[in-house]
Amino acid sequence: MSKAVDELKKIIDDSDNIVFFGGAGVSTESGIPDFRSEKGIYSAVSEYGYNPETILSHSFFMRNKEIFFKYYKKNLLYPDAKPNNAHYGLAKLENMGKLKAVITQNIDDLHQKAGSKNVLELHGTLYRNYCMKCGKTFDLDYVTKDDGITLCDSCGGVVRPDVVLYEEGLDQGVLMSAVKYISNADVLIVGGTSLAVYPAAGLINYFKGRKLVLINKSVTPYDSKADLIVNENIGEVFAQICDL
Ligand SMILES: [Zn+2]
Repeated sequence: MSKAVDELKKIIDDSDNIVFFGGAGVSTESGIPDFRSEKGIYSAVSEYGYNPETILSHSFFMRNKEIFFKYYKKNLLYPDAKPNNAHYGLAKLENMGKLKAVITQNIDDLHQKAGSKNVLELHGTLYRNYCMKCGKTFDLDYVTKDDGITLCDSCGGVVRPDVVLYEEGLDQGVLMSAVKYISNADVLIVGGTSLAVYPAAGLINYFKGRKLVLINKSVTPYDSKADLIVNENIGEVFAQICDL
């Protein structure tokens, strides 16, 4: 165990009010690409001639549903992805009564699959879908039956994923809840995010607890504020800390 991981273990042992804030890097070890990294799909112009950030925006979705659905079903869905040790470690810490909440920017459901109960999904989830006309909800299986526009089996309306597209605001209830957990936390562990995306990244500023820990392989704008920085694979870090 490295010195940094050992120090993190002591911080976790000493606290029963930990909050975890995570980004794409938490899921990359499960085979889900970091959409914003240089190698991620956001940097490539898609086969449709549009920038992926354009396709995944509200206005594009409203105007070009056919391309939106084809693109997102091909590039964003990883139904076979399995949680990794970061997800399992966090679920274990919650089960032990030490971790109060997982706040995630990911939309892949892997925290829930690992057993976490209190997961705040800032950007929603691809595993929940709803009819824009009648509000009926659908699971992922319903959506993946074909690669085109998904329609409601009750009213024929368009069924969209319950995720926050570009140009759309975050769910205020989820956001306020995240602020509450971070403001009240004793230890905040931030992992797998470059903290570049606002307003989610600004949430860190609400923390006024004892220890701010960053687990990330690259430099973040918050490094100077952190009490501990761990530059290691997040799955391996949690495997060591939680004896997985
Ligand atoms: Zn409907």
